[in-house]
Amino acid sequence: MGVIKNIINSYRFKGLEYIKKDSELERKVEILKQLNKDFPNDKKIKNDLYASKAGLNGENEIIRCLKNSNVGMYVLHDITLKSGDTTAQIDYVVITPAKCYLIECKNLKGNITIDSNGQFIRKYELNGVIKEESIESPLSQAERHREILLKTRDSKSLLSRLFFDEKAFEDYHKTLVVLTNNSAILNKENTPQKCKDLVIRLDELINYIKRDLDNTDLIDQDYKKAMKDYAYRFIKKDNPIKLNYKKIYSPKCPLCDGYLIKRKKYSDFYGCSNYPKCKYIKR
Ligand SMILES: [Zn+2]
Repeated sequence: MGVIKNIINSYRFKGLEYIKKDSELERKVEILKQLNKDFPNDKKIKNDLYASKAGLNGENEIIRCLKNSNVGMYVLHDITLKSGDTTAQIDYVVITPAKCYLIECKNLKGNITIDSNGQFIRKYELNGVIKEESIESPLSQAERHREILLKTRDSKSLLSRLFFDEKAFEDYHKTLVVLTNNSAILNKENTPQKCKDLVIRLDELINYIKRDLDNTDLIDQDYKKAMKDYAYRFIKKDNPIKLNYKKIYSPKCPLCDGYLIKRKKYSDFYGCSNYPKCKYIKR
């Protein structure tokens, strides 16, 4: 068995190929940084910038970890799939010969417990007070991702038969929640088995992927092209929700439905986004 595994491993393609790099979160952070400069006293902007940066750092940790793994994979960052009224935003789609992982990053501090119902409960300290919050169950999230993928699959092509036959589909796709914060404590003592396997810490990710690869006998040279084609399918199906963060976060214009923008003429002032229709000015 060892010899065969070695031969298979020597045929494995190595290294990560990035198919989609940009993310909506990255765009949000850039806009919030600018807004934080323009409106330095705005607490909501400051807090959301802080939280968004933390989220983005967590996502960057994942890509750093995947790059160091020396496992051949195609990676897409931030894919949004839509089917009817249901939307699934997936932080990373990671396509390997063994599995296609739909990764959800959680950059959470504190003590995270997944109880016997698969419920996600976080306890953390804020200003000396212990707080408790429940988070959407990763199981229901996984189920939603899976359902949307199933609905958006295309059953006609050869590729579809490889990846999209319903049984093959079930086997091939796996939703993973990855906790990216090193200080987080994950308690899975009472977690049901099927849920246990869906939530891991970042330091477990590479071994997790390698274990799945060890359990497949596919020689990936045959599948490399199909995998890459499959990756580009996600690009086609990506349906990003682009929000106007400037409009959401900037102070409203008191005269119309516009919002304030920092401008400069001799000295700084705030003007309305509907200028020249609206001439409101605040100095
Ligand atoms: Zn206005």
